[in-house]
Amino acid sequence: MTITHDIPPFRMAGNLYFVGTYAASSHMLDTGDGLILIDIGYAESADVVIDSLSILGYDVADVKYILLSHGHYDHSDGVPAIVARSGAKVFMFEADNKYLKGFTPDVYLHDGDVIRLGNTEILCLATPGHTEGTASFFFNITENGRTYRAGMFGGAGTKQLTKAYLDRHGLSYNLRGQFFRSVERLRGEHVDLFVGNHSWQNHTRENYEKSLTSAENPFIDPTRWGEFLDSVERKLEAVIAEETRTEFVNYAHRGASEYLPENTLLSFYTGVYMGANGIETDVRRTKDGTLVLFHDKTLERVCIDADGTPVPPEAGGVEAYTYDELQQFSIKKGAYTDKIVRFEDFLRLFAFRGLTFAIELKGAGVEEETADLIRKYGLQKKAVVTSFKYDYIKAIKAYAPELRVGWLVKEVTDETIAALHAIAADEICPQASTVTPELVHAWHREGFRVRAWGLDRENMKTAIAAGVDGMTVNFPDVLRDYLVRL
Ligand SMILES: [Zn+2]
Repeated sequence: MTITHDIPPFRMAGNLYFVGTYAASSHMLDTGDGLILIDIGYAESADVVIDSLSILGYDVADVKYILLSHGHYDHSDGVPAIVARSGAKVFMFEADNKYLKGFTPDVYLHDGDVIRLGNTEILCLATPGHTEGTASFFFNITENGRTYRAGMFGGAGTKQLTKAYLDRHGLSYNLRGQFFRSVERLRGEHVDLFVGNHSWQNHTRENYEKSLTSAENPFIDPTRWGEFLDSVERKLEAVIAEETRTEFVNYAHRGASEYLPENTLLSFYTGVYMGANGIETDVRRTKDGTLVLFHDKTLERVCIDADGTPVPPEAGGVEAYTYDELQQFSIKKGAYTDKIVRFEDFLRLFAFRGLTFAIELKGAGVEEETADLIRKYGLQKKAVVTSFKYDYIKAIKAYAPELRVGWLVKEVTDETIAALHAIAADEICPQASTVTPELVHAWHREGFRVRAWGLDRENMKTAIAAGVDGMTVNFPDVLRDYLVRL
C-alpha cells in the first residue's frame, strides 16, 4: 500500500498540527522543547509523517515523545521508522503490548498520568474497550490568547466489538462493558477541540478546507465531543441489538426434556430435531472418574433400575458408581428410557454440529477435565461453562482463560456484577422471571450476554421481549415456533 498526503499537513490550532493521512491520523505538538507525536499510523505512514513535519518546517529528529492511543497496527506500525530517525520515547498502556510488531514501548502509561514536555501537559486516561489498553489524551491549546481543551478518544471503533470479531480474536465480551464505561467517563471531560485518531471522527479534511476561508476555527466546537460519544455509544448498542435478533440461542435444556428422558442422547437429538440451536447439559464425575451428564445429586428422581423399578433415595448419586455400573440404570420420562451418557461421547456426537453449548458444572474438581475436553473438541468459542457456584467458574477460568463462562444467579446485585467482571465472565444467567428490558439493557452495557433460565411458556415471551440473548427451555419446539412468528 502506498500512502500519500491525502490530507495536507496543517496547523489545527495553537501548537497542534495534523501530520497524518485520511486513513490514520497523526498529530504533532510543538512544545517549544521538542515535538510530541500522537499516533503514527501504518508502517507506510511514517514517511508521510516525516515529510509532513518537514513541509511544516520541522525536523523528525526533534521528536522526543510518541504517544500511542492503542496498539493496533494502523496507529503503531510506523513507530520504529520514526524512532530510528529521532530516538523518541514511546508511551502506551502495557495491556496493548500484544498488538505491537517489532518494538515495545519505553514507558507504560498509568491511568491519570500527566506527560509534560516544554509548554505542554497531556493527561492520559485509561479508556479500555476498543482494546484492553486504549488511552485517551487531553491537553490545553492556546490560540489568539484563549485557552481551549483538546481531547482524543483513543479507541472509538465498535467494529472490533462484534461477537464475531471477539470470538475470532479470543477476546472477552467484557470489553463491550468496558467500552460503555469508558464513554461514560469521557463524557465527564470538557472538550472544546475534538481530536480524532481517525480523520472521519472529527472531519479533519472538511474542517481543514473550511479553515482556509473561515475566520472561525472549525475544529473548535464544544458540542462535537458529546455528540461523538453519543454516536459511538449508539453504534455499539446497535451491534448488540442486531446480535440479539440474529443470534438468539434456543438451548434444549438437558435436551428436549419436557418430552424425553433428560440428559440422554434421545433427548439431545430430539432437541436439535425440534429446532434448538444450542444444548444445555450438566457435568458430574463417577466413582471411576468418568465425566457423565447428569443433573441431580441423586439418581432417585429420574432413574429406574433394570427391572423398571424406581431407584430409591439410598441408591445415592452418580459418584457412588463406576460408569459401567451406572449402565444398570436408565433415565425415564413417560414411556421413554435411555442411558446415562459420557460427556466425551456427547461431544463426539454433537461438537461438529455448529451448536452452542451451555455446560453446567455440578461438582467441584471437574473443571480441568471439562476444560480439556472442550479444547479437545475445539469448542472454546461455542461453549459457555456455567455454574450456580462462583468458585467453579472462577476455577475453570483460571485454568483455561480462553473459555467463555457464565454465572447462574437467582438474584443480581452490584456484587454479582463486580464478581463477574473480576473473572472477565462473558455471560450473566438470571432467572427468567426476574428479567426486565431495563435490566437486560444494563447487563448488555456491562458487556455481558444474557441467558435466562427457569423458563415456562409465559416468561419465555417476556424474557424475549426484554432482549435476552438466549434461554434454556425444556420445550425447544415451542420456543422455535414462537421465534419464527415474531
Ligand atoms: Zn484500533
